[in-house]
Amino acid sequence: MPSYPRSLSSRLPEVGTTIFTVMSALAQQHGAINLSQGFPDFDAPAELLALLDQQARAGHNQYAPMAGVLALREAIAAKVSALYGASYHPDTEVTVTAGATQAIFTAVACLVRPGDEVIVFEPVYDSYVPAIQLNGGTPVFARLGLPGYRPDWKQVAQLITPRTRMIILNTPHNPTGTVWTAEDMQRLEALVRDTDIVILSDEVYEHMVFDGARHESVMRYPGLAERSLVVSSFGKTYHVTGWKVAYCLGPQALMTEFRKAHQFIAFSVHTPTQYALAEFMAKPGWYEQLKALYQGKRDIFRQALGSSRFELLPCQGTYFQCVKYGAISDEGDRAFVERLTTEYGVAAIPVSAFYKGGDDFGVIRFCFAKSATTLQQALERLIKL
Ligand code: PMP
Ligand code: GLN
Repeated sequence: MPSYPRSLSSRLPEVGTTIFTVMSALAQQHGAINLSQGFPDFDAPAELLALLDQQARAGHNQYAPMAGVLALREAIAAKVSALYGASYHPDTEVTVTAGATQAIFTAVACLVRPGDEVIVFEPVYDSYVPAIQLNGGTPVFARLGLPGYRPDWKQVAQLITPRTRMIILNTPHNPTGTVWTAEDMQRLEALVRDTDIVILSDEVYEHMVFDGARHESVMRYPGLAERSLVVSSFGKTYHVTGWKVAYCLGPQALMTEFRKAHQFIAFSVHTPTQYALAEFMAKPGWYEQLKALYQGKRDIFRQALGSSRFELLPCQGTYFQCVKYGAISDEGDRAFVERLTTEYGVAAIPVSAFYKGGDDFGVIRFCFAKSATTLQQALERLIKL
């Protein structure tokens, strides 16, 4: 093939293939148990799969409305009203997206102008910074420091400038499994008061908060909700990460801007899936069951690893457990996870991938959204190290 163009100036020169793709491929290549990329290895509820089949056969196979199927938007509005006392109008304040990744990109694209600053918390989920950069914004890094990965609000206050357009937060937090408290939300609310800063709140793990703690959604805080776009994902909540269906909520003025971009980024989302989810969401008790399921898996995972040479970091939410491996090896985290995958048959994510500069604190992330058998097999291998 002729080599054209001869020089291509990349818009993302520092970006390679995402660590999730890299590690899942390595796991597959070596037949390793894949605790790297975050997805369940068990299936969605049979009833939900049957609903998808029914809805497709019922002829719901053409373009959905741009903002999403109305029944689904109504179900989402009813859910956040019941859980967080939040009021969003399905017509104008709820939009269904092709995954949380698209919602996040769209939110940044419609609000961040060239030269704007966007504060993110590092370690940072890997899609945020490229989304900011592709839209001409400048990422500004606040630190979630070890051992507790708590936000440092004095540092955040210092990072705010007249150019700060947006703050992106993520609680429960991927990769660290920490959960922000009511005090964190109040501190944030106080910081942005009297500014034009918009909040993008990534709450995809909203239902995985353990030990009786409460998910502190921005929707509970009027001073935050009024300036926030909130994102959640059905992938996490119903064990269907491959469906790539999520949603975004926001007050009308923000949602109007969001939809201006959404209509040209995705336009609309897989139709029968939306009908199936709308019906399934009416099922009572799902969120409590989900929380209990993952808390149980976390406990099994932590208890077994407690007798290993891995040092467990806190896990208050999400389906991820971070560990330090310094007692086992002094390798860098990438070298260590590669060896863990190829020699010991368990794949994990090096947490340095969540730092712009690749900072390596000797921490790796395991995903425990796996069947009891998979977890047991992985744990047998890990406790021998
Ligand atoms: N945000 C966070 C924090 C995530 O962990 C993920 C996916 N694991 C996403 C966004 C993207 O979700 P989706 O698969 O719905 O695009
Ligand atoms: N969010 C998932 C994780 O953290 C992966 C999603 C993806 O592969 N893009 O593992």
